[in-house]
Amino acid sequence: MKLSLVVPCYNEEDVVYDFYKETNKVFADKVDSYEFVFVNDGSKDKTYEILKAIHKVSDNVKVINFSRNFGKEAAMYAGLCNTTGDYTCVIDADLQQRPEVVLEMLHILENDSSVDCIAAYQESRKESKVVSLLKNGFYKLMNVISEVEFYPGASDFRLMRRKMVDEVVKLTEYHRFSKGLFSFVGFNTKYIPYEVQQRAAGESKWSVAKLFIYAVEGIVGYTTAPLKLATFAGIGFVAAAFIYLVIALIAGIISGSLSSAVAIITLLLLIGGIQFIFTGVIGEYLARAYMQGKNRPVFIVKEMLTYEDEESE
Ligand code: UDP
Ligand code: MG
Repeated sequence: MKLSLVVPCYNEEDVVYDFYKETNKVFADKVDSYEFVFVNDGSKDKTYEILKAIHKVSDNVKVINFSRNFGKEAAMYAGLCNTTGDYTCVIDADLQQRPEVVLEMLHILENDSSVDCIAAYQESRKESKVVSLLKNGFYKLMNVISEVEFYPGASDFRLMRRKMVDEVVKLTEYHRFSKGLFSFVGFNTKYIPYEVQQRAAGESKWSVAKLFIYAVEGIVGYTTAPLKLATFAGIGFVAAAFIYLVIALIAGIISGSLSSAVAIITLLLLIGGIQFIFTGVIGEYLARAYMQGKNRPVFIVKEMLTYEDEESE
């Protein structure tokens, strides 16, 4: 059994060596074979020098050095593409996610063959109430409007079996939102709570603005619902035009006078509505072309029982 750790690093000079040391300490005598796949995501500090030094003195360390900062999503992808373990874990370099939790995850996967992935979620979040509220709202919305399931509080911190990693790396889309991709490929994921530690050193690379952009990525990547909104708005406007016309006509007949404003307002609502409907039609075509452009597989087979009663995976 071999374990691979994918570690995205961006400006982590203050902590990456401690992470390496600490993980080795925790894994000693507990994991027989493991590798580190560090990805230096265009760090502007000494992270790469430190990784090179670590690489020099060890025989289980790979270092992928990006030409610039491509973001954590790209770093995770590069790491996953270069793992060889039977199990692969994505873990941050800042020791906020303790290596002890990886052992806990490993224990579950090794003892329960029905589970393919263990994902850790933060039980109590160490962040402001407003950010928590926004994040929860985002996950609720995503679960309603997209076909994939998002578990509130779940992070990228997870351990997967080889077959799941193989499917994730087959998804080559440029705009990646891994929490969605992990969910998209399916397989049986078990969620366990974990306590997020304080950053051992260095600082978080996330800001509210970055989180917002990330959330938009999630919505746009997993649902084409916004493209279809125009259709509903159009139907609403056309319906409003008719309701308004009927009410105005009845009121006109009762009072005995009909103003020309009625015709103008009805026409405005009607034309606006028709335009929206056709925008929605364009959206429907665009949505299909967009999804096709992602080239996601139509299905993913977990195992197949053939008529010879052989199990092939
Ligand atoms: N990270 C990265 N590229 C980036 C930003 C972050 O590889 O552009 C890495 C970072 O070095 C860390 C992990 O992603 O290992 C999580 O980042 P961070 O700790 O800043 O996020 P937070 O824990 O605050 O959510
Ligand atoms: Mg962190």
